[in-house]
Amino acid sequence: MNEFGPAGQLVNAEQRRVTLSFDNGPERGVTGNVLDILRDHAVRATFFVIGRKLAAPGARALAERARAEGHIVGNHTFTHATPLGELAAAESVAEITATDALLDGLAPERLFRPYGVQGRIGPHLLSPAARDHLIARQATCVLWNALPRDWLEPDAWASTALTQCAGLDWPLVVLHDIPSGAMRHLPAFLDRLQASGVEFTQELPPDCLPICGGQAMPGLDRYVSERVSARADG
Ligand SMILES: [Zn+2]
Repeated sequence: MNEFGPAGQLVNAEQRRVTLSFDNGPERGVTGNVLDILRDHAVRATFFVIGRKLAAPGARALAERARAEGHIVGNHTFTHATPLGELAAAESVAEITATDALLDGLAPERLFRPYGVQGRIGPHLLSPAARDHLIARQATCVLWNALPRDWLEPDAWASTALTQCAGLDWPLVVLHDIPSGAMRHLPAFLDRLQASGVEFTQELPPDCLPICGGQAMPGLDRYVSERVSARADG
């Protein structure tokens, strides 16, 4: 357990790694500003993009810029509308493959982040077919452990995120490059963490990866909705 001191320093930090991710873009008018802020702070992150948004005019250029500036780009479903565990087999796999097709050449790491609905983690995240597809594709499924709910609290999230980071050995923070206004606090958030000696890394905490490079990790079944998908498939 780490704690922030009165001046914002991270006290007693044995692990001072933080991994940052930005979900639900790319968004014109937002993602570019986030990239500017990350560049100014020399921080590299991972962007989990929604395929439907990636197909919009100008959006691929933002993902290409992210890639060119050293960020990782990952797949965050095509429609971001229904958790994969609540879809029939073919539909759930199509949510992954349609975005992979658009990401051609931009996402060699094959990172996939499921849609949680308000950030929830549970068996709704994956269908058995989606799980099998990710394994066959040697992909990595990336969950999260720090969710400051920036989309709901665009002014309060940074303080929440600092508290969450202080309580975790290795936070994997989910933020959103969407037009919520929340990212105006990103510079101050990064300043606080950097002042506390945190090292930003693009490596991922293993306990957030139920599938890693195509390997099913212990506990994967907790994120797979066997019952719903079996019913949906008849
Ligand atoms: Zn999302």
